Amino acid sequence: MLDLIMLGTHEAELRTLLETEDGTEASAYVLLSVADIGADPWTGAPRQRLVTRAVLPVPMEDRVSASSVHVTWSTRGFVRLLKRAERDGLVPAIVHTHPGSTAFFSDQDDRNERDLLQIVANRAGEGRAFASIVMGGDGTVACRLWQLPDQARQCERVLVTGKHLAVHASESAEGIPDSLDRQARLFGPSFNPAIRALRVGIVGCGGTGSPTAMLLARLGVGHLLFVDDDVVEVTNLNRVHGARRSDAEAAMPKVDVLAREIETADLGVQIARFKGWVGDPRARDALRSCDVLFGCTDDHDGRLFLNRFAYFYGIPVIDMGLRVLPAAADRPYEMGARVTLLAPGTTCLLCRGLVDPRIASEEALRRIDPAEYERRKAEAYVSGGGDPAPAVVTFTTETACMGVNELLQGLTGFRGPGGMKEERRRRFETCVDRANTARPRPECEMCADPGVWGLADVDPFLHRFG
Ligand SMILES: [Zn+2]
Ligand SMILES: [Zn+2]
Repeated sequence: MLDLIMLGTHEAELRTLLETEDGTEASAYVLLSVADIGADPWTGAPRQRLVTRAVLPVPMEDRVSASSVHVTWSTRGFVRLLKRAERDGLVPAIVHTHPGSTAFFSDQDDRNERDLLQIVANRAGEGRAFASIVMGGDGTVACRLWQLPDQARQCERVLVTGKHLAVHASESAEGIPDSLDRQARLFGPSFNPAIRALRVGIVGCGGTGSPTAMLLARLGVGHLLFVDDDVVEVTNLNRVHGARRSDAEAAMPKVDVLAREIETADLGVQIARFKGWVGDPRARDALRSCDVLFGCTDDHDGRLFLNRFAYFYGIPVIDMGLRVLPAAADRPYEMGARVTLLAPGTTCLLCRGLVDPRIASEEALRRIDPAEYERRKAEAYVSGGGDPAPAVVTFTTETACMGVNELLQGLTGFRGPGGMKEERRRRFETCVDRANTARPRPECEMCADPGVWGLADVDPFLHRFG
């Protein structure tokens, strides 16, 4: 399987760059990075994912001619593109529009691209590739990858990710169950195929993660991934959906509880699970196979990991948090929930002050070297856990609803055309909802500029050199 993630920032750039007043076709170049996935968590098969890394205009002097059914440009720029792609270890891609139609590859495109493949073959040896992307006037996007000597692999799906989410599948989605009829009556006939096509990961399967999983399964998401290292404890039974007393007695992993509940409901959802910490290298294939992730973890180290992952791979993370504090003599209740979108073009968790790197490093130490952690704790070098935080099921579940509704907004625009909010906050004790904006810190590696956006696979993982 081959698919493409087009960053929303790049899609917007391309749509602006390629818009013509007279409806003629236009072209641009894109550089793509690659995610090589050893085993898709649902099928076990290897797959490849292309991610847009940069958009480059075709220079004025290279433009030859264009009409409503063709666009021609000189190949000088293409050769420069090949050089740059080679230097940076990226896949070069050409983009053109079909303003009057949907995105497809015409016979003319076939002929032109075979010529370009010849240029690639002459310049570089075997194994080189280039991609071709078509953007339709109706908003659709198609992509294919040409490889030597003469092979064009169609991307099965193109995902546009960011504040807006769109899935363009080359094949029509697998059967849509009648059980989803009532939601199509609200969002229209294109909604169910889109949500069915999504592959969604839930990181953290406790108070907010378990209702998120239940809601996504009911909505008809076709593939779900659960990531959590914990087992059910008696004190979880007040809020973890699907958990039974017998699960706590048997120390059942939370990921297994959710898988059991959703499989038993027989909703046609494919489930994959990883019992472990989200940053474990063994989870990478599964995470890189997702289209969207929900951050439902309460550890700072896990959030810090997701905060990097979202920007490197262009896989949006909808992160949620909840803080409820009891009233005391001198202050009322404090009960707030938040949902934050992490994606290229939005402000990250570090810049929002929502992750504490010091606590994250203490959590990492506790995971990697528990004895050393205990020693430092005894000497008061680390802060230690403290009392467990209060938690009530109605508020954890409402936070999950806020997060999943954000996904629905990204897919349907039911709240208007602006896409998902970067951050929403709800105060339960005052019934106040608001959107929260924050600026990136100028030195932030993740969100201040496109430095790491769409870099995808690099070694070491999620770290940039140069
Ligand atoms: Zn064409
Ligand atoms: Zn930042």
